[in-house]
Parts: sequence; structure tokens; C-alpha cells
Amino acid sequence: MYCRNCGKELTGEPEICLGCGAKPLRGSDFCQSCGANTSTLAEVCVKCGARLSRDEAADVSPKSRLAVSLLAWFLGFWGIHRFYLGKIGTGILMILTLGGLGIWQLIDFIMAVAGAMKDKNGKPIKKW
Ligand SMILES: [Zn+2]
Ligand SMILES: [Zn+2]
Repeated sequence: MYCRNCGKELTGEPEICLGCGAKPLRGSDFCQSCGANTSTLAEVCVKCGARLSRDEAADVSPKSRLAVSLLAWFLGFWGIHRFYLGKIGTGILMILTLGGLGIWQLIDFIMAVAGAMKDKNGKPIKKW
């Protein structure tokens, strides 16, 4: 494979690229299968047709799943977990409806534990 960050050819699938020190799949400048230049937003390499892989971790929210779950359980009534996620609008709505009379709060708690809650950037909160 090739490093998606610097384009160096790598043997096996190393965690860290020896050429640039980055995680090889974190980059978006080179195709991991043929080493050709790729545009940042490309899904597929136009040269070899390979599907460009992405590091899943880059698409996950940095917020803590544990914190969101605990906040939703203990303070969800006031929408505190939504403020924590930067979702001010629905946070205020939650205060006004008293956490949707507890139902919305319960749903949010289950979503948070299941890793299905999303932050304001739409990234799922999966990291504990
Ligand atoms: Zn590299
Ligand atoms: Zn390619």
C-alpha cells in the first residue's frame, strides 16, 4: 500500500507511515493502492479505480460517550448533554419541554449509550 498522506510505498499495513509519521490512511493526497495524487474530496482513485479508504476515527466526534451518557441520564432534564455537544437550540427546547417530559431525555440517553448520538458537526459520539 501507499501512504495516503505522503505517497510513500509501505510494506504491509503499518499503523504509522515511516515516511511522514502520520497514520497512512489519515491523509487524503495519495491513493493507497497505486500512489497516484488524489483530490481531498475524491471517493475513488481516478487512475486505478480503487475506493479510497478513510480513517474511520477521523469521522468520529472527539466528545466523550461516557460524559454524554452520564449527562443525559442525570441532567438530561435540562438538556445539559445537548449543550455539551454544542446543540444549543435543542438544548433550550429540552429545558422548555422538561426533557420532552422525560421521554426525549430517555431516548437521548439510550442513543448516547448506543453511540448513536451526534455532535453539532454530525459526527457520531462513539469514543468512551
Ligand atoms: Zn507518509
Ligand atoms: Zn489509485
